[in-house]
Amino acid sequence: MSIKSFKGGIHPPERKDATRNLPVEARFPSTKLVWIPVTQGGAPNKPLVSVGDSVARGQKIAESDAFMSAPVHASVAGTVKKIETHLVTGNVDVPCIVIEADGSDRTAFLSPLDPFTATREESLARVREAGLVGMGGASFPTHVKLNPPKGAKIDYLLANGAECEPYLTIDARIMEEDAAKVVDGVAIAMHITGAAEGIIVLEENKADLVPVLEAAAAKLRENPVGPGACKISVALCKTKYPQGGEKMLIKAVTGREVPSGGLPSAAGCVVQNVGTLKALSEAFREGKPLIERGLTISGGACATPKNILVPIGTLVGDLIPEVVTLNPGVAKIISGGPMMGFAMKSASFPVQKNTSGVLFLTAKETALVDEDPCIGCGRCISVCSCRLAPVLIARAVKAGNLEEAKRCGLMDCVECGTCAYVCPARVKLVQHFRIGKLMVRTEMAKQAAKKAAAGTDTKGAK
Ligand code: SF4
Ligand code: SF4
Repeated sequence: MSIKSFKGGIHPPERKDATRNLPVEARFPSTKLVWIPVTQGGAPNKPLVSVGDSVARGQKIAESDAFMSAPVHASVAGTVKKIETHLVTGNVDVPCIVIEADGSDRTAFLSPLDPFTATREESLARVREAGLVGMGGASFPTHVKLNPPKGAKIDYLLANGAECEPYLTIDARIMEEDAAKVVDGVAIAMHITGAAEGIIVLEENKADLVPVLEAAAAKLRENPVGPGACKISVALCKTKYPQGGEKMLIKAVTGREVPSGGLPSAAGCVVQNVGTLKALSEAFREGKPLIERGLTISGGACATPKNILVPIGTLVGDLIPEVVTLNPGVAKIISGGPMMGFAMKSASFPVQKNTSGVLFLTAKETALVDEDPCIGCGRCISVCSCRLAPVLIARAVKAGNLEEAKRCGLMDCVECGTCAYVCPARVKLVQHFRIGKLMVRTEMAKQAAKKAAAGTDTKGAK
């Protein structure tokens, strides 16, 4: 099997050994509480329940009419105790529905639906109704991703099992423990998008999973109707960060480029995380909405690294010390991986649909230092897989010159953090890019509001 790759990138220490061989344990803290953010991807939802309501596991509790949105569901059966704001990933406070579990197994799942006899519209409606969003980090509503723009021809459905972030091993465990569901999810996504070929993409450091996935694909082929008719294979990529980025994955596996500002569909591809594909299979076969997820808990300051499966809304802090014990000297808590995750001010935040891991890092593992002035070494340019000049973008953002920053590719940056990782001056490049993007979006919103106001004035004058 040839090893595919892309230009640029880095190879940080993998640090996956602590959890790679640990099976996923289902856990729920004895606090019995979940704090479920009302919106987890797409347009803002509105709660459908009130304080005091009794809810079943899987019952829809918040939704929006907007197409680009995904409903959320009760992850436990119990009673709604309050609806109030709470800290979430990103260090912002957002409205959450707090449910106290009653220990019962009352469920309100959807009816199973055969994706191979359902119409495309019925299938897309099922994906939306199950609240599926990208579980690899982006939280993009899955029904939107599986419904590419009119005229786009999808050749490849790429199952993203690269898991290139250090420490994280949950996707590898899902592929090992639930290979049949992942492969079924690939077949379903291919059927919905019309993709001719499905490819499950792994990094070389997970080569041991190739026979597991190939055996699952072969089993599917035993019944050459429905999913068995789908052409599904496994590909290996070089272990390199950010291999799991959509653009890098597409380039490495198909040789195709996603145009600047374009979607993967512009390159004839749809990319889905392997955890999302497992959830896709469950949404059809079991009628199960996205109400739980697996994640890796690790880091040098974590005494009991593990892979766990918890109801969405479980507070990470509630798992300590009952499920996870910490060593003294936690210097940084990260929601997600160390490269693209968010440093959190406390562990009291809920696991959401896109929480792939939580890391407790020591001072040694993290660079808790201020940035020095740029020394113009150009290393950031040589590693950027999007072929940008990070130093120039950061300079333009710092100078408040947004036009220059955009011209240098600010909006094409995928915030992978590779440039910041190699910078000898520890320039906080990604932070500058995030601030720059926020400034650009704020400016765009202001312009749009001005335009809308001018339009109203003109209409009023007529
Ligand atoms: S400029 Fe953006 S895309 Fe390029 S390496 Fe830096 S963070 Fe990644
Ligand atoms: S790697 Fe750091 S120091 Fe070197 S040019 Fe880029 S921003 Fe400057």
